[in-house]
Amino acid sequence: MKHCQWCDLQFKPNVSYQIYCSPECREQATRQKIAERYARNRLKKTSRKNRKCKNCGARLSMYNDDQTCAGCDINPSEVSKILKELKGIADGKIELD
Ligand SMILES: [Zn+2]
Ligand SMILES: [Zn+2]
Repeated sequence: MKHCQWCDLQFKPNVSYQIYCSPECREQATRQKIAERYARNRLKKTSRKNRKCKNCGARLSMYNDDQTCAGCDINPSEVSKILKELKGIADGKIELD
């Protein structure tokens, strides 16, 4: 016998990994988990305000889970290469086709 993880009733599981006595309990527990996750994520998101890109220091979107902004979300050596090229273009050293 097992104890239902939701209502704490004793039940006989049909499968060894069953943790709820009924589909209703499972559904309620699942809903609760989703609600908890949602609340946690909201909390996380607000606390993640004002994060900055560790590469360029730009403010990160709170929906961005990475440590770098979208513009830096590529190979860093690739970025510096591009930046050098851009500087070269600005300086007139590199000509575009
Ligand atoms: Zn139950
Ligand atoms: Zn950046």
